[in-house]
Parts: sequence; C-alpha cells; structure tokens
Amino acid sequence: MIPSVLPTYNRAPLSFVKGEGAWLIEADGRRFLDLGSGIAVNALGHAHPALVQALTNQASNLWHVSNLYEIPQQQALADKLVGNTFADTVFFTNSGTEACELAVKMARKYFYEKGEAEKVEIITFDGSFHGRSSAGIAAAGSEKMTKGFGPLLGGFVHLTFGDLDGVTNAISDKTAAIMIEPVQGEGGIRPVPDAELKALRQICDDNGLLLILDEVQCGVGRTGKLFAHEWAGITPDIMMVAKGIGGGFPLGAVLATEEAASGMTAGTHGSTYGGNPLGCAVGCAVMDHVADPDFLAEVNRKAGLLRQKLEGLIAEHPEVFEEVRGSGLMLGLKCKAANIDVVNAGYDNQVITVPAADNVIRLLPPLTLTNEDIAEAVTRLDQAATQVESA
Ligand SMILES: *Cc1c(COP(=O)(O)O)cnc(C)c1O
Repeated sequence: MIPSVLPTYNRAPLSFVKGEGAWLIEADGRRFLDLGSGIAVNALGHAHPALVQALTNQASNLWHVSNLYEIPQQQALADKLVGNTFADTVFFTNSGTEACELAVKMARKYFYEKGEAEKVEIITFDGSFHGRSSAGIAAAGSEKMTKGFGPLLGGFVHLTFGDLDGVTNAISDKTAAIMIEPVQGEGGIRPVPDAELKALRQICDDNGLLLILDEVQCGVGRTGKLFAHEWAGITPDIMMVAKGIGGGFPLGAVLATEEAASGMTAGTHGSTYGGNPLGCAVGCAVMDHVADPDFLAEVNRKAGLLRQKLEGLIAEHPEVFEEVRGSGLMLGLKCKAANIDVVNAGYDNQVITVPAADNVIRLLPPLTLTNEDIAEAVTRLDQAATQVESA
C-alpha cells in the first residue's frame, strides 16, 4: 500500500522535534550536530532569536496579502538585496525551482523584446541541479531526474562541466544564455574555478549572451562572501537565490540587472505567495545578519578552521576519505568508502551530513556554528569514520 506521504524520498528513521543553533533534538531526546542545515537552508541555525522575532511579529500582524497590493516587507527586502549586490531589481518566489523558471523566462523574453526571438537556448552543465520543475529538470538534464517525464522543455544545451572550449563551440544564433552554479551542490561540491567564471563572463560579453548564476545553494554567505560569484570578481545578469535567504522559511528570489529584466513588464509573470509578508520579514532579518562584513569575516575564519581540521581527519582515515573541497562553509568530503555508509555512520554518532553525487558527503553547517561545534563536528566525524573502517 502506498504510504500516505508520497514516497519520493528515502528517509532516515529520524524525527526531529526541536532545533537550537547547530543542534537538532530527536523525539527520543538525543542531540544531533547538524552539518546539513536542511540542505544549506538554516543559514543562521535553528531558532535564531532574530528570526523567531521577525516571524512571530509579522505573524501577529498580517500573514498574507496578494501582490495586487504593495507589500512593505517585500520592498524592504528587495532594497537590501539591490543595495548589496549587482542587481537592480528582484522578483520573489517560494523556492529555488521557481527561481529557475523565472530565470529561463526572463532570458527568453529579453531577446524576444530585442527582436531576436530565435535566441532561446540556454547552455548548462552536467552535474548541475536547478530544481525539480519541468524547466529545472530539463535544464540539468540528467537521466536520473528526467527519465519518464518527457516531453521535456526544449532549448537546453548540456555540456561537460569545465569544458570552456565546448561552450565556445556550442554558441550559435540560437544561444541566449549560460546557466551555471558557481559551486555545484548536488553535483558533489564542485567549485567552478574563478578563472573559469571570469572566462564565462567574457564569453557572454563577447557574444551578447546573458550569464545566469544559480546561487540557490552557494549564495547568502555560504562561501564566505554574500554571493559566491564575488570571489571571481564578476557579476551575472540574472541570479537565482533561495535556500539560505529564508533561513528556513520558504523563500526564493530572482535578482537581475535592469537590462536583463527589461522584458518583464506588468502581467508577464506572477506568484500568489511569492514575496509574502511572512517570508520577506524573515528574509530581511537574514540579510541584516549575513550581509554584515563582520559576520562574513567570521564565516571565513570558521571555514578555515573547519577545513584545516578536516584535512587532519582525512589524513587519519585515508580508507574512508579522499579529499576536502568546496568554498567557505560549503564543503564536500570526497569518500573512498560509500558516501551513504559514512552518512549513516554519522547518524549513529549523532552528526548530520548530506550525501551528494560523485561519492561526496556535504558539510553545510549553519553559518553561526561555534568553535566548540567545529571541534565536536570533527570528533563525531572521526568516530563515524572509525565505525566505517571497522564495519
Ligand atoms: C536546491 C536547489 C535548487 C532547487 O531549489 P528548491 O527550493 O528545492 O526548488 C535549485 N538550484 C540549486 C543549485 C539548488 O541547490
């Protein structure tokens, strides 16, 4: 008999009832150190007082009005995002995959309005993840996500990750944009080198293409900059954001330059819930913390400390781990043992990690994790690795 919850997930037999900072408390009382943050969502950890206050204040005043009216919290969050990034304008969504939908529509509409309606193709890369909507799965293109769901949305050209020559060769009269994650998340924490992001920006400029960055996982302070592309010293034309921006409340956004957004006039796109007062009140509180240079400096300091300790862990468990990679507090441990065995051994030792492709386990802790949490993380990962070795 089919479970009452549609069984699209293989769930671990864990049921958390409370969160405190980087810690999750299981129904049986056990405390787990959360190095997953709900897959890079709880950027300020669990039950952060500022977020609890922002949400409960807003909840006692007004939950929802439609986008037919002005929404001050939405305006405030848009102003913060515009003030801190390349963007001139923002559209709010409830998720990353909805941000992908709009990014694709916006790019196509831009060329349509320019009188270049033939420019519809978007270049993407293997190992990428852009969400589970029809556009999202077609954009990523992997068989795992698309099989059985055809006919797929057309207009995506899939290239090998890191193949710059392939990009140049793939550009035609039909090409509209390049879409890429600055650090692949689901693909196994694969960072795009700064030089390559710069080259992609240059290719877009030389060919009149739009650069769409998917910062749904790597954005919002995760890599130690507010947005990951800042490390490369480039800016996109369109950027997808979600996950961390709501700190656990469902919220996403598409950020764009005035030029790239120029086709999106009144009536061309919409969302019932996107940008609602609850989500935007929380988003403002997240931004007030994460956009603070002192906060980001702390993220970088802690990332350096964690990474250094992980190098030691790898040296002690060469049968289990191969390397650490990633950026800031978006780290991947490439495993020699099966990554799922390491994740499960982590559960036994009350530390939560997230599996990814390429036999990697992801460490995406709350950006607020403490020095003590870091020490505890390494202790527990060490115990998990020892357990895997003796299995
Ligand atoms: C999670 C993710 C998405 C999809 O976001 P949802 O909120 O799950 O729809 C898109 N792109 C990237 C890079 C992601 O990590």
